[in-house]
Amino acid sequence: MDYDKKLILKAVNKRCDVCKDFITEDEANNCEFYYSRTSGNRDIFVHIKCWLKAWTGGVMMKIKLIVTWYDIWIGIFIDRTKKAVYIFLVPCIGIKISKEVS
Ligand SMILES: [Zn+2]
Repeated sequence: MDYDKKLILKAVNKRCDVCKDFITEDEANNCEFYYSRTSGNRDIFVHIKCWLKAWTGGVMMKIKLIVTWYDIWIGIFIDRTKKAVYIFLVPCIGIKISKEVS
């Protein structure tokens, strides 16, 4: 992810999508956040620490490669109802991380 000045300024005082706390100026300057924009043009900011905390802790994760020709975006999307994280580093091709159903 490219953290340019504009993105860092934009992240300040945005609510983290996980903990709902504001991203502080310090955290923004230290690039301690992830940013993504959904296909619905919704900006999503999350603390890196919250993102890691939400998806670690000894829980088995299922990682799947997905191709979505219909959804062109780059970034990270957290689907809380399905408990899945989608990471797209290039448009249309990404990985889906979800909790292993036991
Ligand atoms: Zn947070």
